Amino acid sequence: MSLNELNRQDPAIGALIALEESRQFYTAKLIPSENYASLAVLEASGSVLTNKYSEGYPRKRYYEGQQVIDPVEELAIARAKAVFGADHANVQPYSGSPANLAMYTALIPRDAENKRILGLGLPAGGHLTHGWKVSATSRFFDFAHYGVDPVSHRLDYAAIAAQAREFKPALIVAGATAYPRVIDFAKFAEIASEVGALLVTDMAHIAGLVAGGAHPSPIPHSAAVSTTTHKTLRGPRGGMILCRAEHAQAIDKAVFPGLQGGPHNHTTAALAVALHEAATPEFRAYAQAVVDNSRALAESLMRHGLQVITGGSDNHLVLFSTMPLGATGKIAAKAMDAAGLEANFNSIPFDPQPPMNPSGVRIGTPALTSRGLGLAHMEQVGAWIARAIAGRDDPAEIARIRGEVYELMEQFPPPGFAKPYPPRQP
Ligand SMILES: *Cc1c(COP(=O)(O)O)cnc(C)c1O
Repeated sequence: MSLNELNRQDPAIGALIALEESRQFYTAKLIPSENYASLAVLEASGSVLTNKYSEGYPRKRYYEGQQVIDPVEELAIARAKAVFGADHANVQPYSGSPANLAMYTALIPRDAENKRILGLGLPAGGHLTHGWKVSATSRFFDFAHYGVDPVSHRLDYAAIAAQAREFKPALIVAGATAYPRVIDFAKFAEIASEVGALLVTDMAHIAGLVAGGAHPSPIPHSAAVSTTTHKTLRGPRGGMILCRAEHAQAIDKAVFPGLQGGPHNHTTAALAVALHEAATPEFRAYAQAVVDNSRALAESLMRHGLQVITGGSDNHLVLFSTMPLGATGKIAAKAMDAAGLEANFNSIPFDPQPPMNPSGVRIGTPALTSRGLGLAHMEQVGAWIARAIAGRDDPAEIARIRGEVYELMEQFPPPGFAKPYPPRQP
């Protein structure tokens, strides 16, 4: 983006953003929760809508001057409902984490006797906001956690059902942050219904796949569905809650005034733009390509000696143990980063290593797919990853890989970057 005024007024921040533009342009972004928003999304997000306060909801605001903001939010809501086939959409959550807290507080009344929630545990791929101890979500409700099968590392629906019968939760949370397989929302709904719980789904990671028809939708099976808007959905940083009509009022009240003040209108506009993009045939093709690429990347990693959790992927992410190459996930992720392959270290199910130095690395294909990389490139990326981990103590090898990565990335400019493209940093 043109940063002329910023560079004039505040060259320190201008220079740092220029460095980050270059880093994002030349490195291979493999973090599965990241993506490249389009230039249109970035423009809406950087607009004067940031200047406006509009506590409340369209046509029911606590501030005047909503002639423009109301139709912006109404468009975002209408597009969200259409893209996901939902009765109701709240587009105001600041991000995925507050969306989850709002969803729980909406569906479990303050004076409810049963405040039990059953969610996926962090070590098995769940998110902090599914009631993990260090998350504030754990303060207000009584959480228990299900895991994955010790052998297959997949969700074991019979085991989850047994745990639900025992625990008798008011809510069951489906959804994950590090689970490489399709989630069977119909099965979750069956379990919830049997024990008299409501099913809620956190589709933060897979929202773009759901929008593009590349992952089954949780919407028909869930009382409410929370999501981020900046992961596979490729919108601005933000959150959203979709729900059945009967929960609409409770969800809206829980977001505002329950948890938040004024909505971030620039983000709402950018989300509307992203949802417009998500309704196109090009987006459907992108979503399918994300999954095809992920499958191919998992196969490439296995061919190069890495241990892929569950033996593959059928969404956008691959979780693998780096231990077969003699490195912990943290050491491997640092070597990969030095080689221009950006990822994050991650615990694997039943990880014998501690969370700060676990056995695995989590990668994904949304960002590379947004750049236009395809199946043949995934073989190459898998080879680079294995080389970087094996060559972690060889600076010349790391520099060679980095040069090769930069060269390929240069041929596939990401969305959101206009010419002139950023120069390579030394
Ligand atoms: C990313 C994520 C969140 C949190 O989103 P933030 O925008 O980082 O607050 C919540 N749930 C899941 C499953 C996620 O992957």
